[in-house]
Amino acid sequence: MNNETIYNVIGIGIGPFNLGLAALSNPISELKTLFLDQRDGFDWHPGLMIDHVTLQTPFLCDCVSMADPTNPLSLLNYLKETNRLYKFFIREDFFIPRKEYNRYCQWVVSQLPQCRFSTQVVDIVYEDGLYLITTVHTKTKETEVFKTERLILGTGTQPHIPSFIPKEDSRILHTSSYLYRKEELLAQGKKIAVIGSGQSAAEVFYDLLQSRDENTHLGWYSRPDRFFPMEYSKLTLELTSPDYVDYFYSRGEEARKIILSKQQAQFKGINYDLINQIYDFIYDLNIDNADPKLTIVPNSQLDRVDNSSPGHLTLEFTQLEQEVPYEQEADYLVVGTGYRYHEPAFLKNIQSRIKRDSSGLFAVNRNYSIDHNGGEIYVLHAEVHTHSYISTDLGMAAYRNSYIINDILGREYYHIEKKIAFQDFDVEKHAAMPTVKI
Ligand SMILES: Cc1cc2nc3c(=O)[nH]c(=O)nc-3n(C[C@H](O)[C@H](O)[C@H](O)COP(=O)(O)OP(=O)(O)OC[C@H]3O[C@@H](n4cnc5c(N)ncnc54)[C@H](O)[C@@H]3O)c2cc1C
Repeated sequence: MNNETIYNVIGIGIGPFNLGLAALSNPISELKTLFLDQRDGFDWHPGLMIDHVTLQTPFLCDCVSMADPTNPLSLLNYLKETNRLYKFFIREDFFIPRKEYNRYCQWVVSQLPQCRFSTQVVDIVYEDGLYLITTVHTKTKETEVFKTERLILGTGTQPHIPSFIPKEDSRILHTSSYLYRKEELLAQGKKIAVIGSGQSAAEVFYDLLQSRDENTHLGWYSRPDRFFPMEYSKLTLELTSPDYVDYFYSRGEEARKIILSKQQAQFKGINYDLINQIYDFIYDLNIDNADPKLTIVPNSQLDRVDNSSPGHLTLEFTQLEQEVPYEQEADYLVVGTGYRYHEPAFLKNIQSRIKRDSSGLFAVNRNYSIDHNGGEIYVLHAEVHTHSYISTDLGMAAYRNSYIINDILGREYYHIEKKIAFQDFDVEKHAAMPTVKI
């Protein structure tokens, strides 16, 4: 079926980032928008929706507040409308449960009829100045074609398992599917290994630690030399700012690669409190010097997984500082090696419209567009290499969405702060000290 409506903007993928764009573009009557997602409804990382986990970013990272705190789709308004604002006030905690954030996003979706689910984008072509998007309804298999002047790609990142791990083996799973398999793991796994040094691996390890019975042995292995915390000190948090995006972007392709390689602790790592909760839980297990039935090894690189035995997996590690290989057996291996961006296959027929850098990645313009004309195809969450790790941060989503909306409208609809940090990143723009005449 062909739709004759010509949209100004079609967003593909309705994760938090495009949902924010849908919410912020909602009051703008001159923008005709549509947002499409292949899932049946909004559901944020369901395989990791572990009880009691919270957002890592303050609640103001909702869909709208950092761009327009008066927007009725704010988290505070959600709490008011659902009779929870006083409870939130008394709780006195900026970091809301992930479950509550998910419910909030579903509430936002319910008020935005321009969000359509069960609609998978399978192809896009460019004809007569418009993008023609072909979709398949995931249930009815009906195809439709939508026309738009601009695309916003918000298809997110995908779970990553290193290629040497035989991921087709049912004893191996990524943290993203943990909750779907948790009962099976606990019922059948006498030895469960978790690899990874990030937040997801730590959350899974802690949940298993609390849920397992006394016969289950747990292992946790990380390649870095310690289980390090994410950096939350306030001057480091100033890197989550418009100023820093400007600075990072201005550094150029090669310099940016070097900067990113040095920012592991800031954007990776584990929540500081969670590390301590894990330690304290183990401390309790160990009262009377009882065996906590754990193996925890940093500095451990997983080199190979031998799955030839039907009985168990053999994990082959190297202790990197000692340069000593060692092996561990496991019934299940939970892989917490993060997520990667994959370019969507539906871009195949519009490749010639997309700019590339010397590594073949999207050459993302400062305004988040990737097309040669600089204002037709925008990306959300695919620009770490040009706009820094902030691209993955919910707290900066409203900034990016404001930037894109202003760019599309050609005027500042949403006010964008330019310099918020007390520190100066760019000494060519901001002299750190005034020249004093004596
Ligand atoms: C467990 C977890 C917790 C996190 N917690 C935080 C946090 O507290 N704070 C923070 O700042 N960041 C956090 N992040 C990082 C980041 O904010 C999230 O990954 C966030 O979900 C990214 O949003 P997104 O919109 O880019 O993509 P996603 O949420 O991945 O959504 C992408 C959507 O695109 C759809 N899609 C893909 N292809 C198609 C297609 N062809 N057609 C139609 N639809 C398609 C998918 O169905 C999906 O719904 C977390 C990440 C994880 C994994």
